[in-house]
Amino acid sequence: MRIAVVSDIHANLPALEAVIAAAGAVDAWWHCGDVVGYGPHPNEVVARLRELGAVGVTGNHDAAALGSPIVEWFNPDAHRAALWTRDVISAETRGWLVALPETLLHEGRTLVHGSPRSPLEENVTTPSAAGAALDLVPGALCLHGHTHVPIAWRIGPSGGAAVEVRPTQGRSIDLSEGRFLLNPGSVGQPRDGDRDASFLLLDLERRTADWRRVAYPVRETQDAIRKAGLPDRLASRLGQGR
Ligand code: ZN
Repeated sequence: MRIAVVSDIHANLPALEAVIAAAGAVDAWWHCGDVVGYGPHPNEVVARLRELGAVGVTGNHDAAALGSPIVEWFNPDAHRAALWTRDVISAETRGWLVALPETLLHEGRTLVHGSPRSPLEENVTTPSAAGAALDLVPGALCLHGHTHVPIAWRIGPSGGAAVEVRPTQGRSIDLSEGRFLLNPGSVGQPRDGDRDASFLLLDLERRTADWRRVAYPVRETQDAIRKAGLPDRLASRLGQGR
C-alpha cells in the first residue's frame, strides 16, 4: 500500500495540484492538518481533499478558521488570514473541517498536527520532544506537521534518545527497525529555504519513506493572495520558502 502524506497545505491550490500530479497513483491520502489559513483557496483545497478521500487531523489554522480563540495568539498576518478564511469558507468546507479530529489512529499509525501531547500547539524541533511524542503513541509510526520543515526522528530498536534523520530527495528512509516520527514538510508554505512543495510517500509493504519536492506555479498563488486582499508578506514569503 502506497500512501501520500501531506501537511500544512494552507489553502494553496496550485501547490496541492502539483503534489497530486507528482504523487501519481497512490492507494490513500493522509494529511496532518493546517489545510487552510494563510492561503487564498480554502474551499478549493478542501474540495480536492474530499475528492481524494483524504483522512487526517485538524491544525491550529483549521481551528482558527472555525472560530477557536487560538487565533488570538496568531501573528498579525496569520490573524488577518484566519479572519478572512472564516468569512469565505462555505458550509461544506466548514462541515469537513469541523469533523477533523485532533489525533487520529489510522491503520496502526498516529496522525497529529503538532505533537501527541499538544496536538495544536507544539513544534517538535528537539530530540527530547520527538522522543516524548513517540512514547505517547501506540505502534512504530507517528506522522505530524506544524513546523513546515521536512524531517524524521528515529528511536532505535534498543530504545534511547530520538535521533534526527535528514530526508534527502531520491533516498528512502528504511522504517523496518525502530520507531519513527515523520514530518512531510509543508505543501503550501515551505519554510526550509526551498520554495517547492514538500510531501512524503510511504510504502507500507516495503516499509520505506520517501520525501519529494515539486515545483509549482508560485506566482499563481501569490497573485491570488494579493487579489484576495490578504497580507502581501504571505505572498512574498512563498517565493523564498521562508
Ligand atoms: Zn502550518
